[in-house]
Amino acid sequence: MSNLDYLNSGKVRNDWSLAEIEAIYNQPFNDLLFAAQLIHRQNFNPNEVQTSTLLSIKTGACPEDCAYCPQSGHYNTGLSKEKLMAVQKVVEKAQQAKKNGATRFCMGAAWRSPRDKDLDVVIEMVRQVKDMGLETCVTLGMLTDEQAGKLAEAGLDYYNHNLDTSPEYYEQIITTRSYDNRLDTLQNVRDAGINVCSGGIIGMGEKVNDRYGLLMQLANMPEHPQSVPINMLVAVPGTPLGEVEKLDEFDFIRMIATARIIMPNSYVRLSAGREDMNEQTQALCYFAGANSIFYGEKLLTTANPEAEADSVLFKRLGIQPEQRHHSKEEVEAEAADMAAQAAEQTTSDKKPLFYDATEVN
Ligand code: SF4
Repeated sequence: MSNLDYLNSGKVRNDWSLAEIEAIYNQPFNDLLFAAQLIHRQNFNPNEVQTSTLLSIKTGACPEDCAYCPQSGHYNTGLSKEKLMAVQKVVEKAQQAKKNGATRFCMGAAWRSPRDKDLDVVIEMVRQVKDMGLETCVTLGMLTDEQAGKLAEAGLDYYNHNLDTSPEYYEQIITTRSYDNRLDTLQNVRDAGINVCSGGIIGMGEKVNDRYGLLMQLANMPEHPQSVPINMLVAVPGTPLGEVEKLDEFDFIRMIATARIIMPNSYVRLSAGREDMNEQTQALCYFAGANSIFYGEKLLTTANPEAEADSVLFKRLGIQPEQRHHSKEEVEAEAADMAAQAAEQTTSDKKPLFYDATEVN
């Protein structure tokens, strides 16, 4: 077996070197996609894509200075600020998302970290959305271990906290919190038993080495993030990255394929930037191993292709939205419900519910 065959073998590892990731990323495009597709098929249904809806529950005026983000209070992008939404409003949005076929509902708040009184409101949102039979995900900034524990107790399924880029390029993008702060939050989330959703953004002016560096950080965590969003920068005028040159889309596809190969069991999420891609590029991303998208609603504050366009593309490609996997507790609760209904039916079968006209005295 050649070294490249070994690297492309889909073995789950947490000790990737930069040179290995570079070798995978730079192999001929067709070889890269073929290897990624083989690994994808070993771990997932290749014709299913998980769909989530993302709602911004608190928009703008964020104290952080992420150079790509229109929600940062450091830049003037003309974005209107909104306070934390009421629980009822969020529940209505979640109901709509469920009706449109989403299986996961993600709620994002532009905070450095949540205040405890705001966290209590978010916890109520999580409880009510979960009761509707949707998976829940939140992104609220940095979390202490205690806060992560509270969210886990409320039944939160996923916490999103992106690394954004490599440790080396990070200071060019954010100065108000460190890379280690991010890793600490991810550790707190993992320790609380919540699934981790963590990835990054490419096209921010980084070097290709920074892309390998980002993937290396993600793939060498004690456990691979269950969900890995790969975003293509949406350059928003008014942010420091508003004028950055557009990324070559083949690089984006290479990034997806490399993530699929080195994190074979993770959902690779085709995330921000999709509205700038034509259908052919999106189809290649699915072929390269992307198997999760945001569907409908707005992608926080940047446009997301309408759900209708996604379902048309899914039909043309023969892709099905993935159905939700139920937890052991949910399966048991459903079985108990069915048993109770059956018992009720048996009892009611014995009692005449209506006057029987055939019974003549
Ligand atoms: S990315 Fe998140 S933390 Fe950074 S400025 Fe935007 S909302 Fe704030």
